[in-house]
Amino acid sequence: MKILCIGRNYADHIQELANEKPDEPVVFLKPETALVIGNQSVPYPKFTQDMHHELEIVLRINKEGKDISEKDAPDYFDAIGLGVDFTARDLQTKLKTKGLPWEISKAFDHSAPVSEFFPKSEFSDLANLNFHLHVNGEKRQTGNTSLMLFPFNEIISWISRYFSLMPGDLVFTGTPAGVSAVKPGDRLEARLEDKKILDFLVS
Ligand code: MG
Repeated sequence: MKILCIGRNYADHIQELANEKPDEPVVFLKPETALVIGNQSVPYPKFTQDMHHELEIVLRINKEGKDISEKDAPDYFDAIGLGVDFTARDLQTKLKTKGLPWEISKAFDHSAPVSEFFPKSEFSDLANLNFHLHVNGEKRQTGNTSLMLFPFNEIISWISRYFSLMPGDLVFTGTPAGVSAVKPGDRLEARLEDKKILDFLVS
């Protein structure tokens, strides 16, 4: 499986990092070795002093597809969860400044903890989903899918131009504002529509 991620999909987060607003989705990948499931703890990597949390809605792909239209996109994902796109911000900034790919700052081992997944039919409006992240009990991030620049169907359509989607692939859909550093010992709890579905430690 592969993990496809969308960057810069919430205007408030683009502002906080002083990035340009994209005219098309910014896409990057994480390998399967990035995945952490079952609320296992996430080891703090040796190569960064500034690992940031980015809480995101994650879609689970259930059908093989290529060049999917926006209209057909809903047939290709069946479940929704939450994930944290951990980012070594110091490495990313250094690489971005040099105009180099920032893969190592995003795709490293254990950089993608994800929750369990829920059938999308359980949600009445996918374009109005609330999600929140608390670190050590303090609210750090709040998002609502109505504020995405590129909604789910547009994302699925866009990425499937370049990458065949396969059952079991995951799609991270971008983070809202409020990203900040974590440290060993921090406890991260994430809620989707007020239901806590992610709860893990950084070790
Ligand atoms: Mg992200």
